[in-house]
Amino acid sequence: MNIFSNRTASLLTKHGKELVLDEVLPAATGLQVKLTTAYDTDLLGTFTLETPRHGSQLDAARKKAQVGMELLGTDFGLANEGAFVADPYTGMLPWNNELVILIDQQHQLEITGFSSAPAQNAHAYISHWEGLEKFAETALFPSHLLVIKPTDEYHPKSIKNIGTRQQLKEAFEWASANSSKGVIYVENDLRAFANPTRMENIRQATINLANKMNSLCPACQTPGYWIQDIQRGLPCNACGMPTDQEITKIWGCLKCQYSDKEAVKTLRFANPSQCKHCNP
Ligand SMILES: [Zn+2]
Ligand SMILES: [Zn+2]
Repeated sequence: MNIFSNRTASLLTKHGKELVLDEVLPAATGLQVKLTTAYDTDLLGTFTLETPRHGSQLDAARKKAQVGMELLGTDFGLANEGAFVADPYTGMLPWNNELVILIDQQHQLEITGFSSAPAQNAHAYISHWEGLEKFAETALFPSHLLVIKPTDEYHPKSIKNIGTRQQLKEAFEWASANSSKGVIYVENDLRAFANPTRMENIRQATINLANKMNSLCPACQTPGYWIQDIQRGLPCNACGMPTDQEITKIWGCLKCQYSDKEAVKTLRFANPSQCKHCNP
């Protein structure tokens, strides 16, 4: 038993995210997920430029969770918000940050799960059908759906939900006929139901959320007791300069002042291969 057992959380989405949230949360935490599609979340911002996105990823998720709670009259609200960026290591891979939030209005609590991983996100300008066929293959079509626009990404018209070869061909012909330059713009559809690699990342963020929901503060039993900060700077074994290696994880409560330090390793020094001085 916990504060989530047999309670219901709203989930506002039109993009099939209930599939993974409903698979993970009731089994792991007892929290039931109730879907509403009564508000178009695209009005809060889209990936395809029709509506610019305002505020941070967290603000956007919060807003969706609040709208969902109002629509269904629940004390708990769930929402997901994703972002596509360049990967933090090489800047070359399409990288996907997913956030799943749970708001508990009764206890004034906000718990967030995160996942960061590669996810399929590609685009191209195409003038020939053969080029489009080649692009589609590298873009993981047809498991991942495509969006096509005439001319460029700023064109106001598009065809979405392209998931068969026949649809691809028709969209190509439509966009070519409406293009002012003879080229069409094609991209992966980033909406969750259209992008299985992104959906998997939403699942990982939901699992992270469930783990936090099940982690209770040793002092006050509030859920969401988790790592709040990481101290880095383990000294290099050769030169003694601080490295990026972790020294301690600092756990903290969302409600009270309780916190605890967890030593990351028994190591007292970092390997010189991790040192910017010895191994830049
Ligand atoms: Zn506490
Ligand atoms: Zn060193």
